[in-house]
Amino acid sequence: MLCYIGVGSNLGDRKKHIEDAIEKLKNIEGVEVKRVSSIYETEPVGGPKQGKYLNGAIEIETGLGPREFLGKLQDIEKELGRKKTVKNGPRTIDLDILLYGDNKIDEPDLKIPHPNMREREFVMKPLKEIYEPSSSLWM
Ligand code: AMP
Repeated sequence: MLCYIGVGSNLGDRKKHIEDAIEKLKNIEGVEVKRVSSIYETEPVGGPKQGKYLNGAIEIETGLGPREFLGKLQDIEKELGRKKTVKNGPRTIDLDILLYGDNKIDEPDLKIPHPNMREREFVMKPLKEIYEPSSSLWM
């Protein structure tokens, strides 16, 4: 399954957090990191007053199911010291599943495609760099 992840960080050594997250993704069995977009500095959207983000997108090939894969992403967020505090608040690392093949999932804790991604320039700009639509379903 071809899958696209959005990555963001706005706390501490932002570039290193993103690089570390990519290394950890590469080390997951059943996950192949195929492409990584450029990393862009972006203004925060919503939430409290906070510093600028670095954002990027990652293309992944995986045989893991979406829920299993989400669990792995959440493990990486925890390992990189992410603390859940304020909604949309600053974070060392954020990993979101943007697209998972052409699956549509709408459950309370897992929504694919990721909600509002099309309106978010900080998601779409890096994603468009690496996404080659095999169908025109999403874009
Ligand atoms: P965030 O604060 O952006 O890390 O949001 C985390 C929450 O969003 C988690 O509780 C997830 O269960 C939920 N969630 C829903 N859909 C997705 C998705 N496509 N990718 C990542 N997290 C998701």
